Amino acid sequence: MNEAARKVTTVSESVYDVVIIGSGPGGYVAAVRAGQLGMRAAIVESGAMGGVCLNVGCIPTKALLHSADLLEEVKEGKRFGVNVGEISFDLAGAMKHKDGVVKASTDGVNYLMKKNKIEVVAGRGTLAGRGQVHVKLNDGGERTLAAKQIIVATGARPRPSPASSSTARACSHPPICSI
Ligand SMILES: Cc1cc2nc3c(=O)[nH]c(=O)nc-3n(C[C@H](O)[C@H](O)[C@H](O)COP(=O)(O)OP(=O)(O)OC[C@H]3O[C@@H](n4cnc5c(N)ncnc54)[C@H](O)[C@@H]3O)c2cc1C
Repeated sequence: MNEAARKVTTVSESVYDVVIIGSGPGGYVAAVRAGQLGMRAAIVESGAMGGVCLNVGCIPTKALLHSADLLEEVKEGKRFGVNVGEISFDLAGAMKHKDGVVKASTDGVNYLMKKNKIEVVAGRGTLAGRGQVHVKLNDGGERTLAAKQIIVATGARPRPSPASSSTARACSHPPICSI
């Protein structure tokens, strides 16, 4: 069998106690708890570990807000008797700080997966019948995971309204977090 043919072969795995689809706060916390309870668990994630919250939601927006707050405070410094030199905003610096905070958070999730012996499967999971999760692996190929329990924690996506999609200014959170 050549390499390409081997990659699309569906491999039936041994049974997991639980397979979780999605590694956002809903999914990774469930995975950690499953590990703590001694369950054999796998988590399937098609994108970055940590989901919206850690990568393009709660965490990066708060890091960017902190930079903006700091700028405002420094601008107001004189009123409080704090004199500073010329003030400027370094967007690249703020983004670099945000990237560092995101990396520390997602590294933390990866560490928790290792610590709790959760298998991370990088790919897009779909329900494939009772107790079966089919995964289209990100690096090619497929896997079928057999599970006693399945948790679907795939989050939500923004749905542009006809009104917002007609304006060039309409923009959702992923692009904002990578300006
Ligand atoms: C800009 C912004 C700021 C926010 N700020 C806050 C805040 O300050 N505080 C707060 O509490 N909440 C905040 N939120 C909300 C928070 O991000 C969400 O409530 C949280 O991320 C939901 O977690 P979740 O696990 O349900 O889903 P998600 O975080 O969306 O994770 C779902 C994951 O599933 C993966 N996935 C989806 N389908 C599949 C599939 N078929 N196979 C494999 N993987 C799949 C996705 O890639 C994703 O990683 C904010 C949201 C946004 C957009």
